[in-house]
Amino acid sequence: MTDRWIEETFHPHWKVGLKADKVLHEVKTEHQHLVIFTNKTWGTVLMLDGVCQLTTSDEFVYHEMMAHVPLMALDEPEKVLVVGGGDGGVMREVLKHPSVEKAVLVEIDRTVVDTAEKYYPEIPSGVFQNPRAEIVIADGLKYVAETDERFDAIIVDSSEPIGPSAVLHTREFFADCKKALKKGGALVTQNGLPFLFPEHLAGTTRVFASLFKRVAPMMCTQPCYFGGPFALNMATDDKDILKLDAKELAKRARKRGIEDFKYWTPAVHVAAFALPAYAEKVVEKAIVDAEAGDDTGYATLEKKPKPKRPAKPRA
Ligand code: SAM
Repeated sequence: MTDRWIEETFHPHWKVGLKADKVLHEVKTEHQHLVIFTNKTWGTVLMLDGVCQLTTSDEFVYHEMMAHVPLMALDEPEKVLVVGGGDGGVMREVLKHPSVEKAVLVEIDRTVVDTAEKYYPEIPSGVFQNPRAEIVIADGLKYVAETDERFDAIIVDSSEPIGPSAVLHTREFFADCKKALKKGGALVTQNGLPFLFPEHLAGTTRVFASLFKRVAPMMCTQPCYFGGPFALNMATDDKDILKLDAKELAKRARKRGIEDFKYWTPAVHVAAFALPAYAEKVVEKAIVDAEAGDDTGYATLEKKPKPKRPAKPRA
């Protein structure tokens, strides 16, 4: 038992501290500061560069929405690319779709993959050994720029637009993702906390609106992402995939034999696209700006926000 409190250092004017009952692993990797610890409320917690990435108590929210909203919307998705997501949670949900013949995971930091298997194996639950999975340790920006593969869906399970992940929130990256999509494919990305960082939602929406026929931000409630509802953003040129009603989605889930959901339901899927007014205003303005030619993202390859390194443990 330690009486150490581990703080999130992402928010400039407020902090959240989690009591670390036991620090299981802490290291400065080639790419970022990584700490994994246990906490009575949240279970096992992964923090990267002072930002909570996941907890074993609520990871199902984000992982189910990131995987099932795009994949249930697509008819028979066969090939899926997951960028980031080294914890294996999104891959776990992706491989529940029987039509997925191949899912490629491109994660920059091998330590995230190795420690996921060791300290919270219930999250990847064997996906790294699944014959339908291909695990690539590489920078997602480079991978999508160079790949010849074409995917039905690309799911960007990145961390916040700081440190190694900043490039995954740029126009250049999303433009290459579009090239790597099959016709009518879907691109989905994490898009932060609109109440605290509306500019993040605005930036990604501008880029998506400039690249695709349809941009469809959605929201879910991820308890350990402190600061209100969490946004995911989705884009496609196939408008019909966003018109599916709960009845059709329920039929698809039954036909695919996927039933052990803890967050996603057909009704939650449809309702997720109903944004609160403050977020809707951000999205509408971003689409107007994009139509007026402003296609700048939240981050650019030149301007990559620096992470604030987590504070030294208090003596
Ligand atoms: N759900 C979390 C969130 O929204 O904050 C993200 C979880 S996942 C652990 C984020 C992963 O993206 C990390 O494992 C990190 O190493 C990986 N990552 C960061 N930058 C990357 C890059 N440029 N290419 C590939 N993976 C990257």
